[in-house]
Amino acid sequence: MSWRTTVLRKAAAALPPALLRPFGGPAAIFFHGVERRIVDPRLQINHHDIERFGEIAETLKRNFDVTPLSEVPFALRRPARHRRTVFLMSDDGYANTATVAAGVLRNLDLPWALFVSTWHIDTGELNRMTLARALLHGAAEGDYTFPHIGPCALNGSRHHVADVVLSRLRLLPAEAAENAVATMMTALKRPKCAPPLYNASEQFLNWNQVRTLAGQGVTIGAHAHWHWPMHDRQEAKYLRDQAELPRRRIEQEVGSCRYFAYPFGNAGDVGSQAWKAVREAGYDYAFTTLAGTLHAKQNPWLLPRYGLAPQESDLPSLLPLLRLGNSRVARWQRQLN
Ligand SMILES: [Zn+2]
Repeated sequence: MSWRTTVLRKAAAALPPALLRPFGGPAAIFFHGVERRIVDPRLQINHHDIERFGEIAETLKRNFDVTPLSEVPFALRRPARHRRTVFLMSDDGYANTATVAAGVLRNLDLPWALFVSTWHIDTGELNRMTLARALLHGAAEGDYTFPHIGPCALNGSRHHVADVVLSRLRLLPAEAAENAVATMMTALKRPKCAPPLYNASEQFLNWNQVRTLAGQGVTIGAHAHWHWPMHDRQEAKYLRDQAELPRRRIEQEVGSCRYFAYPFGNAGDVGSQAWKAVREAGYDYAFTTLAGTLHAKQNPWLLPRYGLAPQESDLPSLLPLLRLGNSRVARWQRQLN
């Protein structure tokens, strides 16, 4: 968790919602998956426990106006009239969004949008970052060397080493990252201590399930084709494909696709070429993972969005406070112009 998020949560815990409500603005927020049971929080970091998720959903229902994405232009134009407006989204396209999350949200009649990484829906292949994390945590002790990463000693508790390897991996161009993960798969997958790589939580939806969700009113957006960062170390063609391919696949399989969310989506994961590729591909709006609230002066292809933590006990205070992030969002948007 970043220091900004830590400060934000501490402030939210200390300040009453009634004091902050007049200060708030429309907010985009997102989760990934929801599981009936979290067995290993180290590896299932992208998934909420169903009970905690239910509490979050009920808090949203009681305190905010959870609104479909089609209302984004109105919220951007007149944020002061939408202080309680929340756009709820889910990223990646995990199968448990259909089997677990959808039921919770349907029971409360909350609209939401699902951003899918279409290559993973096409192939069922796991997210490379999740795969690398599971391999690094589950592999036998030893000294390893991976292309583009370098030497790596996996001994005892390996949280720090795994974090360093994963952050280096995230900076790599897609092809180099794929190459490094392929080597990890061969080097780290020892028969006797093979990690629980194919944890059910990490399975993706198939297109039938995506269509069913769309039929239930869920808005389907694009989360790139491959779930990998779109920083400026990526080739121009790669960024174009990341923007164009998912829109084409969603339109072929489901229907119209007007919204995009960047994989990882933080300042180091989205470059100036990325948002231009997304604009050129014809999306109306695109969402990052920088925290802030929505307003009309923002670049519509670099909108702020807040990632829900596994537990959120102070959302009624926290969401108005997201506005404190707007100056950082504005600075970052100017840098990417
Ligand atoms: Zn994602």
